Amino acid sequence: MQTPECYNLDAGCPLPLHTKALRGEIVDQKELLFRLQEIDITWDKVRQRLVKLQKFSGGSPSLLKAREQVAATEAELHHWRGEQNDAELEAQALSQRIKDTEDRLMSGQVQNPKELQSLQASVEAMRRQRVSVEDRSVEALMKAEELAARLQEQQEKLDRMETEWESKQAAIEEELEKRKQEYVYLKQLRAQVVAAIDADMLEQYEYLRQRKNGIAVAQLQEDACSACFMQVPTSVVSAVRRGEDLTYCPSCGRLLFSP
Ligand SMILES: [Zn+2]
Repeated sequence: MQTPECYNLDAGCPLPLHTKALRGEIVDQKELLFRLQEIDITWDKVRQRLVKLQKFSGGSPSLLKAREQVAATEAELHHWRGEQNDAELEAQALSQRIKDTEDRLMSGQVQNPKELQSLQASVEAMRRQRVSVEDRSVEALMKAEELAARLQEQQEKLDRMETEWESKQAAIEEELEKRKQEYVYLKQLRAQVVAAIDADMLEQYEYLRQRKNGIAVAQLQEDACSACFMQVPTSVVSAVRRGEDLTYCPSCGRLLFSP
């Protein structure tokens, strides 16, 4: 198994110690559990980082938001340009109908006074309608102009963000690849360390890790527990130093081992 480089995780890289564990230099079951715990803590961090990187690989939240804004403004602008176009076409059609009706009125072909009156009324109604349609057209035009200005502003901002993002993306992709390798490596390493641990010890470990905030095994450091920092009674210290199996910290209930 090839050892990947250490990626400066907060927990510190546990890998050199595990090489020792893998070579069989660590035989104490509790120390093996402690090393397993280091792997698990690192593995959790790698997993969390991977999730974050994967989320970011498509763009930062602010970039995604900027893209959405541009798309929304474009859609709105498209809508108002359509409205303006419709209104213009409607006004043109009305103008044509007004002209046709006026031509008929002027042609002298219509003699009936009632019909003449009706045509005249129709021309007036169409003129009023055209005014309202032209109003709509002007409103749509103004709205579209306002949106076009906003879109340009948003697009320029987005372009700057995209450029900035491109320079970061390469680094993110690179780290993502490394983290994936590290994830797989830790998974394999874990399986090998687990293979050297007795089943009942492993069960204790999993049980405690779930209930003790991810820390199942603590070290004895100057007669104190490294997890809860409480002083451990002399009798317990002696038992731990003798390497007795399953000696617990009386304060926090974690397994103790003496390095
Ligand atoms: Zn403790």
